[in-house]
Parts: sequence; structure tokens; C-alpha cells
Amino acid sequence: MTDMWVNETLYPFWGQRFGVTRELARTKSDFQDIAIFESEFHGRVMMLDGIVQITEGDEFVYQEMLTHVPLLAHGAARSVLIIGAGDGGVLRRVLMHKGVERAVMVEIDGEVIRLAKEFLPKIAGEAWDDPRAEVIVGDGIDYVKKAPDASFDVIIVDSTDPIGVGEVLFTDDFYANCARILTARGLVVNQCGVPFMQADELRETSARRRKFFPHVTAYVAAVPTYVGGFMTLGWAGKDPELTRLPAATIRARAEAAGILGTTEYWSPEMHAASFVLPPYIAKHLPG
Ligand code: SAM
Repeated sequence: MTDMWVNETLYPFWGQRFGVTRELARTKSDFQDIAIFESEFHGRVMMLDGIVQITEGDEFVYQEMLTHVPLLAHGAARSVLIIGAGDGGVLRRVLMHKGVERAVMVEIDGEVIRLAKEFLPKIAGEAWDDPRAEVIVGDGIDYVKKAPDASFDVIIVDSTDPIGVGEVLFTDDFYANCARILTARGLVVNQCGVPFMQADELRETSARRRKFFPHVTAYVAAVPTYVGGFMTLGWAGKDPELTRLPAATIRARAEAAGILGTTEYWSPEMHAASFVLPPYIAKHLPG
């Protein structure tokens, strides 16, 4: 048993706590409080402003679903933009796809990247040094404003919640530019919180995206340390058929991309099923 506990402070009335065996880093960057510790059960854990961002134990669920679902649904993504995701886990998954020629990652907080490289090296693996990766320390909203029209096939937004520095990534301005810089079949996904607890995040972000994209929906993943039931990953694109592909099509694409057999949560069947939403979640999406 551990004698030190860290409480997550996401909700003032309910939460989870971790038995900590060793503190690895605790600092205040220009943007947020960053803490990384070794936990009794989940491996290493990173918290930003007291909120769990990633644990070594269950990161595969979130990262696989946030990456493989949009890339395989698109089917021919060559240029991918990642916003946030400073731990490098999404970058690693994106670069696993053989067809990806360019992955630009824009993370506002250089300290998150530095500390992830030092204390969470397994999460990104070799991705930081991949010649296809371009890692930029900067604000995602500024990047999308300046990026050329039709320059990315898929945009993956792995941000903090819509408070503090992450707030701009949930605005009209951000989504208008995402629509502009995506190619014809392009799509954007982002984390939309746990709707049992944070329904506003899904409802408001989906309504906002609907102003700029003809097809808006969400898909789900059960991430143990994002407590409160299913996590939703928001989806905005131009072609609704991309979210209705049969598992057999997804399987063939995953095989060609080199993804089949590499995953622990994602599978062709989980991919197809993840777009089936319980009514308590579906009711928050625009019709
Ligand atoms: N997968 C985890 C989750 O969803 O909780 C990890 C999230 S990831 C570490 C979130 C990152 O988004 C943070 O490192 C944060 O610095 C970054 N971020 C927040 N606002 C940003 C912005 N405006 N531009 C770029 N990155 C931003």
C-alpha cells in the first residue's frame, strides 16, 4: 500500500485518486501546472492543472481511437495535423500509418513536450525523430489561421478541456479555419469529454462545428481514467459515408496501412461499433 495519494480535481464533488509511489516532476509552466508521478497501478501519470491527461496504463485506448479511426475512415490520408497532444502518443500512432507522408504537431506548451520526453518516453517512442514529423511549439489557433487552404487530410485535436489555453480550440474561429485547411474529403476529430459528466462540451462543440461542416457526429471509447463512462470523440467532415464503413472495409485498409495486429483497443469491429451512440449521448448532437 502507498502512503501518498494524489486526487484529481476535475469535479469539486467527485473524483478519482492515485496511489503514488514516486513523484517525478512538478512544475508550473507559462500555461499550466504540470505533474508527473509513478502510480501504484496505472504506471506513470501526467496531470495538467490537477486533471489527468494520460496514464501509461490506459493511454492506448484514447490514442488508438483518436488516431486510427479518422485515418482509416479517410483511407488515404497523407498529410495530418495534430493540435495539442504534447505527450507524443498521437504522433506515434499517426506515423504508424504507412501512407502518412507528413505529420505536423502543434503543442502550445514546450514544457509538456520536454517533460514527456524525459519521464514518459514509452508514449511517443521514436516518433519525435521521425523525418515525417514536424513538431512546432505554438498556439493551435494561430497555426490554423496561417495554414494554406486544403493542406491537411485529417486534423486531430488532442487538447485540454475548454478552459484556459485549450479554450480557443473550441471556438468558431478555430473550426472555420479547420474547414478551410482541410482537403475535399478531410475531417477533424477532437476530444469532447465524458458526456455523462460534461454534456455541455459535446453539445456546444458539436453545434459549433455544424456551422462549418455538413456532417457532424461523435464516436465513443471507454477510457478507464477519464471517469464517468464513455468518452466522446467529436467528428466533423464532409462525407457521412466515412462514419458508416463496414468492418471488412476498415480491416482491409488497416492491413494495407500496417495497423492490423498492433492495437489493444482499436479493431475493425470496435471502429465500426464506436459510432453507435447510446441515446443519452446522441441527444446532444445536432440533427
Ligand atoms: N490525451 C490527453 C487528454 O485528452 O486528456 C492528453 C491531452 S494533451 C497532453 C493536451 C495538450 O493540449 C496539453 O499539452 C496542452 O498544452 C495542449 N494545448 C492546450 N491548448 C492548446 C492550444 N491552444 N494550442 C496547442 N496546444 C494546446
